[in-house]
Amino acid sequence: MSIATKDIIIEKVKNSKIDQVDFDNLAFGSVFTDHMLVCTYKNGAWETPTITPYQPITLDPSAKIFHYGQSIFEGMKAYKDKNNDVFLFRPLDNHKRLNISAARMCIPQIPEDYFMEGLTTLLNLDKDFIPTKDGGSLYIRPFMFASGNGFHASPANEYKFIIACAPSGAYFSGKVKVLIEEKYSRSANGGVGYAKAGGNYAGQFYPTQLAIEKGYNQVIWTDDTSHEYIEEAGAMNIFIRINDTLLTGPTSDRILDGITRKSILEIAKDQGIKTEVRKITVKEVVAAAKDGSLKEMFGAGTAAVISPIAGFGYRDTDYDLPELENSFGERLKKIITDIQYNKSEDKFGWRY
Ligand code: PMP
Repeated sequence: MSIATKDIIIEKVKNSKIDQVDFDNLAFGSVFTDHMLVCTYKNGAWETPTITPYQPITLDPSAKIFHYGQSIFEGMKAYKDKNNDVFLFRPLDNHKRLNISAARMCIPQIPEDYFMEGLTTLLNLDKDFIPTKDGGSLYIRPFMFASGNGFHASPANEYKFIIACAPSGAYFSGKVKVLIEEKYSRSANGGVGYAKAGGNYAGQFYPTQLAIEKGYNQVIWTDDTSHEYIEEAGAMNIFIRINDTLLTGPTSDRILDGITRKSILEIAKDQGIKTEVRKITVKEVVAAAKDGSLKEMFGAGTAAVISPIAGFGYRDTDYDLPELENSFGERLKKIITDIQYNKSEDKFGWRY
């Protein structure tokens, strides 16, 4: 199956809404570009993708997305360099991961050319929405869901693949305080934690809300069986620096294979930073916090790139992390964003 850019049906907006966008005050993911890409899967095949003005979609009340939650998504960004050239970062990895999620949720695979041609055609139309301010980017949300009808609890026979985009300012969460969670789990062995499935995020909201009520910003997820191992930081992968070694847990059924995570691992190795991908116990992190060998913790993901952690709570005790002059997180963030914004050589071949 092959789709050329010329096959995509394009219906342009009559009047662009770009003049209404306040590029100096962009909240994350709340204003959208002029167009969206929509592709329907019907009768066992993907139809020709269409680009239409950004608009609501109509679904039958029995559409299976509402009842059985067949819904997956990706998160990626487009960046502009100083010459206004547009770059993506490892987009084929997002395509691959979308299809891994799709397989787990019984959603049909989206072919690479539908994804890449659809994405690049849409970006060509809406590239003026890509912020040029420092740290700004166009957040891109490709997603797929069951649009087919019927109350029967079985996979739908119709699906939509949609790409929508939101210009976003630099994402500064500030330093966050996190709570190591021992009661609730994000995911389980044999479950869907490795998929970017909508329900994974719905299930996180309540425990996160409880943590916020206790004065934390975010939850650190531990494994579902023993709660002894540290797995993820909210909707990000987690890195922990003990002395001069940077640790992150191995990906598994329960952990999302983050593109930022794997990029950071490669950059850190290239920088001569000692890395270890292994199971990390809560016990060793608490012990390291007590004896001063715990230097840094940070979340890693597309939205914030690196989100530094100021301290963590565990069983009614709070532990603070030191203020560091030469943080690995800051250093790695600079290297990865310089690649993304075409400010440095692309030695790993990640820019697109
Ligand atoms: N873990 C979870 C649960 C996530 O939702 C994300 C965000 N996609 C990540 C990790 C980080 O992945 P990436 O670096 O590919 O954005």
